[in-house]
Amino acid sequence: MAGLHVRSLLVTGANRGIGLGLVQHFLRMPNPPQWIFATCRDPKGQRAQELQNLASKHPNIIIISLEVSDPTSIKAAAAKVGEHLGGSGLNLLINNAGIVKLNTLDTETFEDMREIYTTNTVGPLLMGQAFLPLLKKAAQGSPGSELSCSKAAIINMSSIGGSIASSYGWELMQITSYRCSKAALNMLSRCQSLAYKEHGILCVALHPGWVQTDLGSCAGHAVGIALGRVHQSSAADFTAPSQALGMGCISSSAPQPPVTVDDSVQGMLKVLSSLSEKDTGAFLDWEGNVLPW
Ligand code: NDP
Repeated sequence: MAGLHVRSLLVTGANRGIGLGLVQHFLRMPNPPQWIFATCRDPKGQRAQELQNLASKHPNIIIISLEVSDPTSIKAAAAKVGEHLGGSGLNLLINNAGIVKLNTLDTETFEDMREIYTTNTVGPLLMGQAFLPLLKKAAQGSPGSELSCSKAAIINMSSIGGSIASSYGWELMQITSYRCSKAALNMLSRCQSLAYKEHGILCVALHPGWVQTDLGSCAGHAVGIALGRVHQSSAADFTAPSQALGMGCISSSAPQPPVTVDDSVQGMLKVLSSLSEKDTGAFLDWEGNVLPW
C-alpha cells in the first residue's frame, strides 16, 4: 500500500469481522502505524480473545474500551487516545462498528430503529466530534495541503444497502432500520466532508462488499429466507455466535457472502491509499467504484 503512510489510526468494533481484519492488515504493512487504537466494547471478554492475542505480540496495538452508542464512553476513549499520542494527532478514524436486525418494514419497532440508528449513525457522528481535535492536530502536523488518508481522514463503514437510488437487494432483505441508518450515515459523511475540509480532514463513506463476517452471514440468512431455503422460525438453523449477538440469524443453509475479510480489507486499503481532495464526501465501495447515493 505504497500511498498509505499512517502514523496513528483508530478502528471501532476491532475485535472481530472487518474491524479485526483492518487491524491485521495495517500490522502487515511494510510501514505499520506507530499506534493502532483497536477499540471494542468488552476488551477482556471472550469475543476480544483474538484481538488480545494480537496485541500481546504487537506493542503498537492499544486496546481501548469503547461503546459507540454511549457518549460518555466515546469521550473517555478520546481522552485516553489523546494521552497515548502525547502532543501528536490521530491520522485515521475508521467508524467500523455496526449492527443489523433482520426486520421487515412491517416488523420494525421503535426500539430496533432507535438501537440501529444510535449505533450505526449517531455513534459515528459523536466519534467525529470527539476525535476532531486529534484529527485536526494530525492534519496540521502533516506537510502539504492536499487531503489524504495519510494526513487526516474519517472513514465511515457504510453499505450499499443504504443507497436510496439502487434499493439494493430489497426483494431479498428489507432490513429497513439498517438501510435507514446507513443512508443517514452517508449523509453524515457528506456533512463531515463539507465541514471538515477546511481543517484538512478527508471524509468518505465506504461499502466493504458482502463480506464473510457474522453480520454478512446474517444478511445471507435473510436472503435464505427470501429464497425459501431457510425457515424463519427454525431455531435448528441458527448457530451460536449469532445467538450471542442477539441477532439469531446465521444458518447453514443460507447463501454465504462471496467476499472474504482479507479481500475486502485489502481492497479497501488500496482505495484508502488512492484517495485525495477530489474524493472527499464520496460514497465508494471496496473496489474503488463510486456508488449511487
Ligand atoms: P460484525 O458483526 O462481524 O462485527 C461488528 C463489530 O461491531 C463487532 O466488533 C461488534 O462488537 C461491533 N459493535 C457492534 N455494536 C457496537 C457498539 N454499540 N459499540 C461498539 N462496537 C459495536 O460485522 P462486520 O465486520 O461485517 O461489519 C463491520 C461494518 O461493515 C459494519 O458497519 C457493517 O454495517 C458494515 N458492512 C458489512 C457488510 C458485510 O457484508 N459484512 C456489508 C456492508 C456493510 P461486539 O463483538 O462487542 O458485538
